[in-house]
Amino acid sequence: MSCKNYDSCCAADFMPVGDLRSIQLSRLQNIVAHAYKNVEFFRKRMDDSGIKPADIKDLKDIQKLPFSKKIDLRDTYPFGLCAVPMSEVVRLHASSGTTGKPIVVAYTKEDLDVWAEVMKRGLAGAGLSRNDIIQIAYGYGLFTGGLGAHCGSEALGATVVPASVGNTQRQVMLMRDFGVNGICCTPSYFLHLIEQANLAGIDMRELPIRVGIFGAEPWSQGMREQLEKGAGIEAFDIYGLSEIIGPGVAIECTEHQGMHVFEDHFYPEIIDPDTGEVLPDGEMGELVLTTLSKYAMPMIRYRTRDLTRIIAEPCKCGRTIRRIDRISARSDDMFIIRGVNVFPSQIESALLTVPGVTANYLIILTTEKGMDSIEVQVEISPEAFSDQVKDLEALQKNISKAVESVIGLRIRVKLVAPQTIARSEGKAKRVLDQRIKN
Ligand code: ADP
Ligand code: ZN
Repeated sequence: MSCKNYDSCCAADFMPVGDLRSIQLSRLQNIVAHAYKNVEFFRKRMDDSGIKPADIKDLKDIQKLPFSKKIDLRDTYPFGLCAVPMSEVVRLHASSGTTGKPIVVAYTKEDLDVWAEVMKRGLAGAGLSRNDIIQIAYGYGLFTGGLGAHCGSEALGATVVPASVGNTQRQVMLMRDFGVNGICCTPSYFLHLIEQANLAGIDMRELPIRVGIFGAEPWSQGMREQLEKGAGIEAFDIYGLSEIIGPGVAIECTEHQGMHVFEDHFYPEIIDPDTGEVLPDGEMGELVLTTLSKYAMPMIRYRTRDLTRIIAEPCKCGRTIRRIDRISARSDDMFIIRGVNVFPSQIESALLTVPGVTANYLIILTTEKGMDSIEVQVEISPEAFSDQVKDLEALQKNISKAVESVIGLRIRVKLVAPQTIARSEGKAKRVLDQRIKN
């Protein structure tokens, strides 16, 4: 067992697979019965598919259950999917949602305990303990990031600095003055923190910070290298979504070969997004999650729209809970340009293979002469920002080639000076779509 902060709560990570499957089955049976009994939406969906809770006799029977989707949360706004009386609900969160009403999620006291437990297991696996000071630089409020990471860090017994987002110079000061050891925030915000520290003459590599827990948005291997080198830390990818619980659905261990899903609480499946067919472990597709122990708002076979694969092979760390691969993309983020499907994450991966390029970039889509046009604005590092026009031209060409080799389309590259592209405090906005819609 190689979790040095191992305690009884982490035991579930290392449980014999047979025991894990039987816990999953009994929890699944329980939660399906609970949802059927208490949520009209689930009861109707199951009745329409001709399935009753008693038909779940085996874990495989989960495949008989109908899927649920984000639109179902919108249609039942705000409390239509609640499975307990409001007197049992102790917290509400809401996810931004790009249009119209947000989607609302509810928690009982026990649900919050589960959330804190999975976050705690994740933080412990990333090498943090009660002896550490953890700064939470995710937004606090309706967004699940801040409070989720906060309660998990408290459950771990660490000293929590609830900094929230913003006031970046002050964040850096707190990190230095308090001797912060770990930070939870979006990867793009941490990049911004490193820059601001540098501007203030502070070298983060010399501070006690050693662990970064980064999630809420896709990020590439190139980004990881920039964060780890820039701050002298070990970066951990953490995944979650409000509909399922918030951050803490899955997180990397120190092997950094995929994120372990806390599958005693969240049951993962991968489906073909077009046909809905369940794919075998190892194949890429859309992640579907079922909450096995969330009572206020159970989610059954929720289609996350996030694309990944299940890694079922045992991990060197000894955890028996399965892993998912880095989220390669969120299907909603995909844009179609001149008939080609492109994900911003593909562009990021290509950009960051070119030396001198930073992870601050913006993809701008426009219509020119009736055709889609794509420009990528990229900030280059101060060292690469040469006065020599020919050096810059060469860099521009290299970037263009790197991106073209990945997406198969010629793009326009515009090199911009350090600090030109707007920084985000939460999830970074990578695409500006200014195309004329017919
Ligand atoms: P919203 O839907 O408003 O963005 P959430 O804050 O619940 O609300 O965001 C959850 C989504 O964020 C996930 O479905 C996923 O697309 C993305 N996400 C979260 N963590 C990661 C991660 N580690 N890597 C890539 N994407 C992530
Ligand atoms: Zn592992």
